[in-house]
Amino acid sequence: MALKDSFGRPVENLRISVTQRCNFRCFYCHREGEDYNLGVEMLPEEIERIVRVAASLGIYGVKLTGGEPLMRGDIVEIVRRISSIAGIKDISMTTNGLYLTEYARQLREAGLKRVNVSLDTLSPEKFRFITGTNFHRDVINGIIEAVRAGLNPVKVNMVLLKGINEDEVDSMIGFAEDNGLVLQIIELESSYEDDLYIQHHANLEEIEKKLEGRAAQVIVRRMQHRKRYILRSGVEVEVVKPMHNNEFCLHCNRIRLTSDGKLKPCLFRNDNLVDILRPLREGADEKQLRELFIKAVEMRRPFFL
Ligand code: SAM
Ligand code: SF4
Repeated sequence: MALKDSFGRPVENLRISVTQRCNFRCFYCHREGEDYNLGVEMLPEEIERIVRVAASLGIYGVKLTGGEPLMRGDIVEIVRRISSIAGIKDISMTTNGLYLTEYARQLREAGLKRVNVSLDTLSPEKFRFITGTNFHRDVINGIIEAVRAGLNPVKVNMVLLKGINEDEVDSMIGFAEDNGLVLQIIELESSYEDDLYIQHHANLEEIEKKLEGRAAQVIVRRMQHRKRYILRSGVEVEVVKPMHNNEFCLHCNRIRLTSDGKLKPCLFRNDNLVDILRPLREGADEKQLRELFIKAVEMRRPFFL
């Protein structure tokens, strides 16, 4: 039975940032709402212990993110340890895809079920502008390898950016169709660079209207009120609109763990973190760790209410 916060929202998923390090420099990156700090990282056995506590409280889904999770040389061990925990039914990862050709198969064998790969554009030039790197082809190869390795679904995360990739929705849908992918179109969230946000924030409503016209079926996912459009061609397109969205908060069922071991009740806040790594390193027992978890869950408040 999942823990509930004081607003009655069950907490079923844990989103773990395993590192803040990244080999890309996406200009819009929100770094999962973490304050920038390239200090401590949790060891695989520490991550396992924290997930065991989470599982004992009813959490069954784990998403690994970062920074770039594949920057960690021990990422396969992290996945293997998490997948060995009774009660964890779903392990997924969000990655920039650069090292997926190398890791997809090992990750699948270690227990990773599915993956989200960030790819905003099919143009190498735009890719260079967005990420500051020339690894466009490597990311595409990584996506193809993830499908071959049996990760399912492989979702492509496309952040919609005014003046950059708004004209690419149709070609990205075609790319998803051709390669057996789900396309996830994400609204840009404001990060620290307000000018860039104002310049590139694009409204998703027009796109949603067009998708509705092409859809054989529209499904609203309870979690964060996402809409899934099953197009007549069979391809799935999801739309994620977290900004200023009461529904996003009301249906949020996740808690976060920062790369330096702090429970983070809300993506948009850093003033209510609960350090769990330090007590763990100082010898806290299971009961004390569970209490820290419960304290963090009790602090959850819908942000856009
Ligand atoms: N490095 C990995 C990656 O890029 O997938 C994982 C971390 S990244 C912070 C997680 C996801 O957040 C990516 O899909 C990225 O596109 C998305 N993201 C980052 N900054 C964002 C922003 N300002 N608005 C919306 N999505 C953002
Ligand atoms: Fe941020 Fe991910 Fe881009 Fe790295 S690859 S800069 S973590 S969005």
